Amino acid sequence: MAKKWTYLFKEGNAGMRELLGGKGANLAEMTNIGLPVPQGFTITTEACTQYYEDGRKINDEIMGQVMEYVAKMEEINGKKFGDLKNPLLVSVRSGARASMPGMMDTILNLGLNDEVVKAMIAGNPDPKFERFVYDSYRRFIQMFSDVVMEVGKKYFEALIDEMKERKGVTFDIELTAADLKELAEEFKAEYKKQLGEDFPSDPVTQLKLAIEAVFRSWDNPRANVYRRDNDIPYSWGTAVNVMPMVFGNLNDDSGTGVAFTRDPATGENKLMGEFLKNAQGEDVVAGVRTPMPISQMEQEFPEAYADFVKVCEILENHYHDMQDMEFTVENRKLYMLQCRNGKRTAQAALKIACDLVDEGHKTEAEAVAMIEPRNLDTLLHPQFDQKALKAATPLGKGLGASPGAACGQVVFTAADAEAWKAQGKKVVLVRLETSPEDITGMKAAQGILTVRGGMTSHAAVVARGMGTCCVSGCSAITMDEENKVFTLAGETFREGDPISIDGTTGNIYKGIIPTVDASIAGEFGRIMGWADKFRRLKVRTNADTPRDAKKARELGAEGIGLCRTEHMFFEADRIAAFREMICADTAEEREVALAKILPYQQGDFEQLYEALEGCPVCIRFLDPPLHEFVPTEEADIELLAKAQNKPVEDIKALIASLHEFNPMMGHRGCRLAVTYPEIAKMQTRAVIRAAINTMKKHPDWNVRPEIMIPLTCDVKELKFVKKVVVETADEEIKAAGAEMEYEVGTMVEIPRACLTADEIAKEADFFCFGTNDLTQMTFGFSRDDSGKFLKDYYDKKIFESDPFARLDQDGVGKLMKMAVTLGRPVNPKLHVGICGEHGGDPTSVEFCHKIGLDYVSCSPFRVPIARLAAAQAAIKEMK
Ligand code: ADP
Ligand code: MG
Ligand code: MG
Repeated sequence: MAKKWTYLFKEGNAGMRELLGGKGANLAEMTNIGLPVPQGFTITTEACTQYYEDGRKINDEIMGQVMEYVAKMEEINGKKFGDLKNPLLVSVRSGARASMPGMMDTILNLGLNDEVVKAMIAGNPDPKFERFVYDSYRRFIQMFSDVVMEVGKKYFEALIDEMKERKGVTFDIELTAADLKELAEEFKAEYKKQLGEDFPSDPVTQLKLAIEAVFRSWDNPRANVYRRDNDIPYSWGTAVNVMPMVFGNLNDDSGTGVAFTRDPATGENKLMGEFLKNAQGEDVVAGVRTPMPISQMEQEFPEAYADFVKVCEILENHYHDMQDMEFTVENRKLYMLQCRNGKRTAQAALKIACDLVDEGHKTEAEAVAMIEPRNLDTLLHPQFDQKALKAATPLGKGLGASPGAACGQVVFTAADAEAWKAQGKKVVLVRLETSPEDITGMKAAQGILTVRGGMTSHAAVVARGMGTCCVSGCSAITMDEENKVFTLAGETFREGDPISIDGTTGNIYKGIIPTVDASIAGEFGRIMGWADKFRRLKVRTNADTPRDAKKARELGAEGIGLCRTEHMFFEADRIAAFREMICADTAEEREVALAKILPYQQGDFEQLYEALEGCPVCIRFLDPPLHEFVPTEEADIELLAKAQNKPVEDIKALIASLHEFNPMMGHRGCRLAVTYPEIAKMQTRAVIRAAINTMKKHPDWNVRPEIMIPLTCDVKELKFVKKVVVETADEEIKAAGAEMEYEVGTMVEIPRACLTADEIAKEADFFCFGTNDLTQMTFGFSRDDSGKFLKDYYDKKIFESDPFARLDQDGVGKLMKMAVTLGRPVNPKLHVGICGEHGGDPTSVEFCHKIGLDYVSCSPFRVPIARLAAAQAAIKEMK
């Protein structure tokens, strides 16, 4: 039997989102629960995959089923495709498994051609109807040309603008039937000019081309970037929905809207949305006219509004989550065109989750599971300093479209935003409105400010998704994008001028307003409290200053998983001594130099122990190659020569001798301790003395130092360094007359260490995966240079994501698993963690949970993300 490639809405349900895509599955579900949905059908995501397998062609079997379902749709709706008496017009809409707002393409009013237009008008003498028909026709030609044939929108927009100018009107709504008719003719002519052929008039041809275009859009560059950012696999494909049109642009008794059952910016439990009279599709979000707030719809469309409020209630009770809906009113009657769990800011997500628990919609575990860990990032980022904010006077106000505080230099294009960011500058992107092409620039900006567009405009939706601060629709701005200048309240802003925007209030300020760090309180605290009840993984932090350590503690870190000690050599008061040690000729000389550093390092460690209040602190011994510490400036070299009492030439020769062709694989990590055991001795003394002092001060704390040896590749190597550490530590403990336990473990970051973990575990009290190096060495490409070519790997579909950002579970992960499996039986006390960048990446955290690690360690601001991700991994497992 042939595979089923098509489903009527009434054949599907919400559980079929993998096959029908999110939009199709929810259209089916809404149909099932009796909501007013125009009845159409969905072409499956498998058909999309098949399209690519067939070399970007829709095969006959699929097209055959599509036509069969067109016939079924015609029968259900009592209208016929291409018919002159009773024509059926349809929309062709993409819809992937995971929602990708604005990423792919939709075509409306498909099925129109000159004959159908003529016949429709002949059947209805109302001049308003004629206007509507031509309005639909010109929209269709424009959308089809843009989306299907890839003739840029701009050509058509230019024609509209010319027409408006000729007619002396501001809004498209003021164009008459005759104007729109003329416009449709101009559009067709433009189509022919651009493509050298006539606009296709056969509805079936139009349909086939449109379906192909949706499949093709799955692979457009925007969609690929979005997928990478959101961990959506390329292999999923998109479904296509074909459904009868309902017409919000029919007359003044019609319109189109979008709404959320709760406020997606704050989470407040009240209907929020926008409605635009006599309009179609994207009009409401594209900023062509300013829509009315949904509350106003109540006065102008009371019946439809009342129905809509009912629908909202039904949907929330059905999905138990905040809904994002698209709808149209045709002749005062409501039609539902889309619903989905609404995207929301992190702040709103927390409030909604707590409210849903309080309202009995969700359990605590479900509430924890519904927060996107990645989004918490925004809450942890700075907010405006309240005092400074009060003192500042806003220049103007737009809509607070995505909360947070942003300040930086004004730029006017997405490309500039990217370029300036690359130079290390903070920028605020200011635009008339944004479009999907701007996405990478929006990501590079601290905040986004737009002149046009409402709460559901492209800028607002995308910014909320990214957690970037956004103020939209500040119409008081006079914008000159071309010359990169705008004015607001009499102030002129040029490229590079400082500006601050508040995404919560919508306020816009001249200059830079200082920001302060955020804290975990209120709903955030409540959710994190629940998360901590469910998770098994412990969460530590990577910190090497008391300030970072304190921050991490506030954010819930249960220890330090990685304290890098290199910065402790770099500071002004010790770098001279360290350089002395590098230049020394004998071990004795080196010890003298290192002795000068010891008290500083001991002090550093004491402060860390203080900050951690008895929680574990894992200190990694010196890791980078020595050449990173020697001077490069002539003057510094001379100073060093003088201090060493050596000729400048000798110092230069020494520096040159430290040069390595491949420093990442060079003389670093425990290899340094093998060559210079004095360094490990000094660091051990500093750790143990600091711990003993801390214990004396706080007898109730359990101070149990963890010493971590980096870059081990062989057990004998570890054994050698460990012996140095243990002898020194025992000597120190004895000398102090103290009693203290300590641990010596190793980073696992070289493939050979994973392969021989059963040997290494005999000597190690713990393993900690350094997945940055492990990834680098497993792939064999440099983490500092791979950025240059990884882009080609994404473009050519070899990689879907950056293995340094998202753990490669298949390769690197397999090595980790092997290390755990080999290590644990040899040393049942062995504890295992991860301290690479991946420790704060939600999907990687889930993996760490699965392979049974004891803890993850990440940068302080990622600690809450890791706590939540760890809880979600545990909750997922419970199911
Ligand atoms: P997106 O995924 O970008 O939101 P959609 O497929 O939802 O794209 O289409 C965008 C808009 O087009 C919808 O919000 C709706 O206003 C309009 N639209 C789509 N299909 C129809 C239809 N059958 N009748 C009327 N309007 C439609
Ligand atoms: Mg769209
Ligand atoms: Mg939509």
